[in-house]
Amino acid sequence: MEGHHPAVEQYLETILELEESGVVPMRARLVERLGVSAPAVSETVKRLEREGYLTLDGDRVMHLTETGRAYATSMLRRHRLAELLLVDVLKVPWSQVHEEACRLEHAISPTLEAHLVTLLGDPGACPHGNPIPGSANAVDPGPLQPLSTVQAGRSCVVRRIDEHLQTQIVHMRELESAHLMPGQEVLVGETASGELSVRVNGVDVLLEHDVAANVYVTV
Ligand SMILES: [Zn+2]
Repeated sequence: MEGHHPAVEQYLETILELEESGVVPMRARLVERLGVSAPAVSETVKRLEREGYLTLDGDRVMHLTETGRAYATSMLRRHRLAELLLVDVLKVPWSQVHEEACRLEHAISPTLEAHLVTLLGDPGACPHGNPIPGSANAVDPGPLQPLSTVQAGRSCVVRRIDEHLQTQIVHMRELESAHLMPGQEVLVGETASGELSVRVNGVDVLLEHDVAANVYVTV
């Protein structure tokens, strides 16, 4: 599928991201995440099914075939390498690189990818803590849980920011300015009116529940 339309590449990658988020991949989720109409999603999903990249089961859940998964994985790999290039080399702010990488990833050929891997030292994770598929340096941080589920009074360490949250630039800026990034220790406080209070480096920060639900930590 080399040279396929970026939109199609985005579909397969998004299905893989849904799996990573623990969300059942239904077409309605693609409508939400890709911001396209339901008929357009149905049309493209039908095409992907016909071309052997996914199957739909009786419950209308999408399943990537081996080919579809290989393709989605290579896109996600390029996405995360691109994010690292943007942060480490081009010094683009951490909160902004996801969006830029979404565009850049479609332009990365296997040759350029190999150069990126060499330049970046075959990194194991993206700047948001998500594993880079196929890396020899991938690290397993252990069992992760959403920050929103950590008991008040406990400390935890931020490990990864879900791809879906990365699309929400306002929230990403909040996380960046509060230093809520991978490796950061956080003391969890109380939840009140849908907001979770956390203490980071002695500073209290309020997070919306949906934001905290997409920040994964180890306790
Ligand atoms: Zn990303």
